[in-house]
Amino acid sequence: MPLRLWTLDVAREQSFTDEHLDRWVSLTGQSGYDGIGLYLEHRFAYPSAPWAHGEGCITPEQVARLEQKFPQVQIIPFINVLGHMEGFLYTEQGKRFAEERFKGLSACPSNPEFRQFVERLVDDTITSFKSDLIHLGGDETSQLGKCPACALRHKEELYGEHVGALARRVLEAGRRPAIWADMLLEHPVAMNLIPKETLLFVWEYFDDPQPAAEMLRNAGFEVVLCPTLHTYNSAWLNLRQSERNIRSMIHEPNFCLTTWEYGMMGNVETLRPAIVAAGVGNPDLMDAYEQGHAKHWARLMGVELVDSGPTFAEGRHRSSLRSRLLLYGNPFLASHMHAESLSGPAGELALRIAKEAEFYTPDNNFMCVTMLVSKAIEFVRLADQARQSYAQGLPGIAVASLAPCRVIFDDLERFAVANRLNAGGSRADEFRCRQAKAHVERVIRRVRDFGAGQLGYMPSWETITDPRFTPHDQGNWWRINAWGEELA
Ligand SMILES: [Zn+2]
Repeated sequence: MPLRLWTLDVAREQSFTDEHLDRWVSLTGQSGYDGIGLYLEHRFAYPSAPWAHGEGCITPEQVARLEQKFPQVQIIPFINVLGHMEGFLYTEQGKRFAEERFKGLSACPSNPEFRQFVERLVDDTITSFKSDLIHLGGDETSQLGKCPACALRHKEELYGEHVGALARRVLEAGRRPAIWADMLLEHPVAMNLIPKETLLFVWEYFDDPQPAAEMLRNAGFEVVLCPTLHTYNSAWLNLRQSERNIRSMIHEPNFCLTTWEYGMMGNVETLRPAIVAAGVGNPDLMDAYEQGHAKHWARLMGVELVDSGPTFAEGRHRSSLRSRLLLYGNPFLASHMHAESLSGPAGELALRIAKEAEFYTPDNNFMCVTMLVSKAIEFVRLADQARQSYAQGLPGIAVASLAPCRVIFDDLERFAVANRLNAGGSRADEFRCRQAKAHVERVIRRVRDFGAGQLGYMPSWETITDPRFTPHDQGNWWRINAWGEELA
C-alpha cells in the first residue's frame, strides 16, 4: 500500500507542548499524509533510560493521548540505535557507550552493555507507539570500526549484525522495521544481514534518487523516497532547492518529506505551507506561500536572499553563518569567515532584503527567522569594523563598534524565547545568545586592557577574540598544542 509521510524533528533541542503536537498531527491528517514521523533520538522519555529525559522531551503519555485523539493518523516513531546517539553519549550515564571517547555521534556495536541498552529502547518504543512501522534510524554511522574491539571486525558485519538483530526484534513483536538506507548503500554486503521485510528510507537531498532506489529494490527491499526541506543548509529555507528535491520524488508511491533542525533560531511553523503543499502533491513551494499570508516574505527570504551573495547561496552543508554565530560560544567566528562577503555590497543587499522581509513578516514565528538574518549581518559588519579599528591602533573606536553588539544578542535572546514558547523551538538558543553576549563583553574588556599594546605586543584580532586567549601566551600554545584537547 502506498505510503505518504513527513517527519517532524522533535529531537535537537526542540520542546513541543501538547498544543503544538496537536496542531501538527491534525495538519498531517488534513494534508494528504497517511502519517507523521516523530524524529526522536534522545528526546523521548524512554522508560528504561530515565537519566536521559531532558526537560521538554516527548513522553509516552503524550503519544498515547495523540493516538487516542487522532486515530486516523499514523504516528510513527523514528528512533536511532547506532549513529546519532549523541544525546545519550554526552551524558554522564551514557558516555560509556561511545565508539570514541568525547567524539562523534556513534555508539559501539561491540559493547554488550550498549546492545542491551538499545534493545530496551526498541522495546520501550514498541510498547509506547501503536504504529505498525518502527523506524530504527541506523544512518550516518561513519565511526564504524574505530574502537579497538570494532577494528577487529568488518564494517559490513558490525552494521548488519547490530541493525539486523534489532530489525528482527521488531518483526518478532509483530511490527515492521524501517531504517535509513545510506549505510546499506555504502556497505551493500550488510544487506544480507538485514531482514527483507525492512522498509528502506532512501534520503537524497541533491541528486537523482532513482539509481540507489533501484539497487535496493533489486536486492529485494521495498523503499520510501525522502526529499527534504532545505532548512539546515540555509538561513531559512532554500525554496528552489527544496522544490527541485521534492519534485524529483513527489510521484513516488512511497514518499516521506523530511524536515530537520529548527535550532539556531529556525522555526518549524514557518515551514507549514511547504509541508502542506508536499502532502497534497504540489511541489510548487512559491505558489504554496503565495496563497498564504507570507507571500512577499517567502520570496525575499527563500529566493532573493539566496541570490544575494556567497553567504546565503545554495549549499550542501549546515548553515555556516548560523552555526558560526551561535554554536561555538564565539560569534566572532561568523565575522572572521563571512566579513569578506557581508561587509561589502553583497552584505548591504542581504541586509536590505532582511529589513524588507521584517516589514512583510506575517507573525512572530516568521519574525524570529528574519531577525536572525538581519542581526547576524549587523553583527558581522560591526565586528569587522572593530577589527579594522583594532588593526589601525584605535582600540577606543573598536570598543565603540563592539558596544552595540551586546544589544544584538539581547534582542536575539528575546526572539529565541518567543520561538520556544510559540513554536516549541530550541531550548538551547536562548543560552547560546547569552553566551555570545558574554563573550562580546569579554572581548570588549580585552580590547580595552590589551588593545593599545599593554602586553608589549598586539595579539592578532583572531587571537584576542578567541575564548581561549590568554595574556602573555604570545605564541597561542592553546592552539599550537591542539593535541592536548584530544581525549582518545
Ligand atoms: Zn566499538
